[in-house]
Amino acid sequence: MSRLFRSAAAETRAAIEQRLAARPTSALVAAILGEAQQQVAQGSEASPLAVLRQSGAGCSACCLAVSADVTPLEAIVVAEHLQRTLSAERLELVHRRLAWNVQRRLQLPPAERGRARLACGLLDAQGHCEAYEVRPLVCAGVFSLSREDCDAAARAPTAGPQQVPLDRPAKAWTMGVSGGLQRALVDAGLDGNLYELNSAVLCALDTPRAAARYLQSEDLFVDCICTDAHSPPRRAVAPYRIDPPVTPEQARARRKLRHKQYKSLRHQ
Ligand code: SF4
Repeated sequence: MSRLFRSAAAETRAAIEQRLAARPTSALVAAILGEAQQQVAQGSEASPLAVLRQSGAGCSACCLAVSADVTPLEAIVVAEHLQRTLSAERLELVHRRLAWNVQRRLQLPPAERGRARLACGLLDAQGHCEAYEVRPLVCAGVFSLSREDCDAAARAPTAGPQQVPLDRPAKAWTMGVSGGLQRALVDAGLDGNLYELNSAVLCALDTPRAAARYLQSEDLFVDCICTDAHSPPRRAVAPYRIDPPVTPEQARARRKLRHKQYKSLRHQ
């Protein structure tokens, strides 16, 4: 785990925990996520490789080929944005694209779902993101250093983000922000697992009063494609992996404890 990841996780976790401790109402979910979005923007700007980036307006190769994962909070904010900004017809069209993507993924064996080359349901016919202003953290903080390689990877028969040179400092920071957000949500008794983007946004769109119910710890995403089930309500044991640095002895003790917990889970 890199230093950048750990710093981003710690800063984001502290900022989100502070927001959640104030018992926010559903009207404030966008502001809570805004803390994480701001962290991503700041960390991305600070990357020494920022000047070499070739991702930008009009480039949607990764939206065409890479499957993105989001927390429920990100999905809810995207859904609210779509409901607020799109006409009824356009919203219906986005809903159909999301549902079609989810259906296609569910038809595949679980191991192949992440590698399926399906254009994101939020990508419009002109190659623009319908939720650009509130796009998920991973969409806002992962940048390619070669547009040519991106296009080639998007045309390749199997998914392989490793074929594309990325701004690694920005990516490590963004993953840390996402990790800090996940941890803060879990610590607040909320669902902080990761879900496939299309299925999570579809679920948030279809759930009346999603934000308020999410903040009341209702298990709204139970039928979504969960891509990282690390905590309640998808798994009974919460993760330890983004805690601050520990000594090797502490790390060993934690691993042992976690192993014991998971073992006892399997036998329940
Ligand atoms: S949410 Fe927007 S930026 Fe992210 S993959 Fe979908 S279309 Fe692309």
